[in-house]
Amino acid sequence: MLEAARQALGGATRVLVVTGAGISAESGIPTFRGEGGLWEGFRAQDLATPQAFARDPELVWRWYRWRRDICNRAQPNPGHLAVARLEQTHDSLLLTQNVDGLHPRAGSERLVEIHGNIDTARCTACWTLTPIAELDDGVPRCPRCAGTMRPHILWFGETYWEGTLDVGLAFAGRADVCLVVGTSGMVTAPTSVAMHAKRSGAFVIDVNPNTSEVTRFADAWLKGPSGELLPELIGAD
Ligand SMILES: [Zn+2]
Repeated sequence: MLEAARQALGGATRVLVVTGAGISAESGIPTFRGEGGLWEGFRAQDLATPQAFARDPELVWRWYRWRRDICNRAQPNPGHLAVARLEQTHDSLLLTQNVDGLHPRAGSERLVEIHGNIDTARCTACWTLTPIAELDDGVPRCPRCAGTMRPHILWFGETYWEGTLDVGLAFAGRADVCLVVGTSGMVTAPTSVAMHAKRSGAFVIDVNPNTSEVTRFADAWLKGPSGELLPELIGAD
């Protein structure tokens, strides 16, 4: 399987990479949605919603700052670094579900963070994006219009921001290889992007210790941790 995947990648010009929580779990980032995801008695579903923010923005901000600290303390692993290296050898695009910022910190530049970014706040009035590090504590105000800032994260019940998935789908239609890493298959949008790549003729590689929704239509399933398999597939420095 590894050899077939390596050959496909070696002959590819355009590579679409789709990553999910699995790649970051290997850096110690909890999923927040699963077991043990409680914070002060709240579940993610109680806090990561527009309704929760409307009810108690201060509480939601405290939770996100706590999560942000965990993400900022974590380090990109060899899997993140291998994905970043692909940009040097291929015309590649990275679509990630992860908000932890580990991909950009590993050096990925051609990426779309489809669920947002833990280090970024967004104005609820004028959509201005601002690094959280530049904002006040508590419930910060927009530097442009003084509106209420919220975490720039796609919450439960919200639809994808205009354009985010279109970029991925457009690239998927032209990709020679689609590399899917650490997705659970519970999130359907990244799966449908990978499916679109497959239908358009891409060789689909699923890197995952467990089966996912993608495994069933993948051309190669590399079973195991991405921190070990991606350097083997892509090459290490
Ligand atoms: Zn504003």
